[in-house]
Amino acid sequence: MDVFSYWQGFYNDPWFWQFPMATLAISTATFLAVAIPWTIVAWRDPVSLRKYKIQQKPFEMKQFLLPSIGRIIINNIILAALLVLAWPLLKLTGVHNGEMPVWYIIIAQLIFFVLLDDFLYYCMHRYMHENKWLLRNIHSVHHRIRNTCGINGNYMHWVEYSLTATLTLVGPIILGAHIYVVWMWVILRQIEGADGHIGYDIPWNPVHLLPVYEGPVYHDFHHAKFKGNYAGFLPYLDKYLGKTYIPAYLSYLKGKQNGLTPVEIEQNELAPKKRKKQTNR
Ligand SMILES: [Zn+2]
Ligand SMILES: [Zn+2]
Repeated sequence: MDVFSYWQGFYNDPWFWQFPMATLAISTATFLAVAIPWTIVAWRDPVSLRKYKIQQKPFEMKQFLLPSIGRIIINNIILAALLVLAWPLLKLTGVHNGEMPVWYIIIAQLIFFVLLDDFLYYCMHRYMHENKWLLRNIHSVHHRIRNTCGINGNYMHWVEYSLTATLTLVGPIILGAHIYVVWMWVILRQIEGADGHIGYDIPWNPVHLLPVYEGPVYHDFHHAKFKGNYAGFLPYLDKYLGKTYIPAYLSYLKGKQNGLTPVEIEQNELAPKKRKKQTNR
């Protein structure tokens, strides 16, 4: 059977709708379910939560709210089109809707997906910073926003969006995972993707229940400082793959351990610099 015949009537194939299309829909719905409430919080900027704002300057709401929504729509249309094009290949993978594996296999597979995706994402993300052409033409779009809120999480070039989505599928394709496990993984991945941009470090944020994930501060520092903190979930990669930890992030963690809020940490961070400026005068 030639490749083109795979496309004939692909839209009549229930597996096409269950695998790439439902996965895309679940992925986007999860992102929005996390991003929208936090964007409303950032929009209202309640006084009670200001002490938890990671960066004390205002969110870039007016400038980037509508463009973020626009990018989400366009990026998903492009990704859907790419999934249609890739369908003959996707159909050949071992991803299936047969028998569900037992619970501990599901857990092991999810751990494998997190580890693999994070490693691949770290490499891709770091390369996008080191390769000047990629940085200027692709990744700089995502870095236009320095103080992000939830909805800004998927404000990126469609090439970066599609590559990130491709990396997410590598683990499930290698293992030939059950489609429900793929959906669980995609939900986990999008929670992290949206949460990393919410702009607040709040102790009662439910994502802190996720093991090893350090919360939104890690990626927030990447936007604020631009260089370093390249991973998604697991900051250990910055420690062991080239010392790409952002020093200010490490001192933030220390401040947090000492019970300080983000506002107090930033004030402490700025205070020595101000003092230095004054003595230099
Ligand atoms: Zn970056
Ligand atoms: Zn980001």
